[in-house]
Amino acid sequence: MDRKKGCVVGVIGLGAMGFGMASSLRKADFDVVGFDPAETARSRAKDAGVSVLDTPESVFEAADVIVLSLPTARHVERVVNDAMAAGYLSKGLPSKVVIDTSTSEALISRKLAAMLEAEGHGFLDAPVSGGPSGAAAGKLSVMLGGAENRVKEAMPVLEAMAANILHVGQSGAGNVAKLVNNMLVANHMITTREALRLAETSGVSAETALKVINSATGRSAISEIHFPTWVIPRSFDSGFSTGLMRKDLRLARELAAESGTATPMADLAAELWDESLSGLKDEDDFMLMGDPNLEFAPSEEKK
Ligand code: NAD
Repeated sequence: MDRKKGCVVGVIGLGAMGFGMASSLRKADFDVVGFDPAETARSRAKDAGVSVLDTPESVFEAADVIVLSLPTARHVERVVNDAMAAGYLSKGLPSKVVIDTSTSEALISRKLAAMLEAEGHGFLDAPVSGGPSGAAAGKLSVMLGGAENRVKEAMPVLEAMAANILHVGQSGAGNVAKLVNNMLVANHMITTREALRLAETSGVSAETALKVINSATGRSAISEIHFPTWVIPRSFDSGFSTGLMRKDLRLARELAAESGTATPMADLAAELWDESLSGLKDEDDFMLMGDPNLEFAPSEEKK
């Protein structure tokens, strides 16, 4: 069955990303129901035309397609298990598709996909890239893991949220692709900052060095978009937290440990991202890692 516009879409987790996705779905004329425990997130979503319900389970009851945008795989597992226990993902009900856009874990995605398929429902791991602004503009990149027929069913909803939709492979493949991408992001933040700092201490301004890098071979999305937008103007408000960056790096390194793959650069990056060396708190915007004034030092030395 194709999901056409007009079906009810649920969004669980109406934070920086989920709010943008819910807004894009509203703009594409979907009926959107949602849930978030935080009152600020709830009232902002109501203002954007989302029918905010009282529990995650009532979102599963009301919606045909359910988009999750939650902090971790534990939250995802909990929300899906609760909906299952409440009977909203039972066999015999019209088939539902869960699109999990959280940066989550392949093992958990595979487990949930198998559990839902056994009841006649679908689960796609669908992590995204593009930040809160990409979510609000419906221009995310989404990397999908899951069965082809479920991808087809979810496509109208995905198209309302994303400009690039890449079906990577079977369940969990989207999570793997996202984690290796974000492992690079974590490294690029550090290496780009280091390069600009060296340019400055050697007499070339960060702005000038960045222009050169972005027309030469050292560039990345971090140098082309993030540094000019959030670091050089010192606004440090990209909407992605240091805590989430640390989570992604941790998950990428867990993936490496599971597959026996050495990741010496990511191992070093994890040390530098740690609060004990960077001084950054989980709630700080991750762009602060690009601050040329940041000194990597054990926290005792900073006092
Ligand atoms: P966020 O903290 O802004 O939003 C998460 C929301 O989930 C919060 O509003 C929180 O109240 C809500 N929540 C917590 N527990 C819940 C529950 N049990 N049921 C319903 N809602 C619950 O985080 P975010 O930046 O929007 O990130 C969401 C996910 O997207 C994360 O997995 C993150 O790694 C990923 N992501 C974020 C970005 C970004 O730039 N912010 C980019 C790509 C991917």
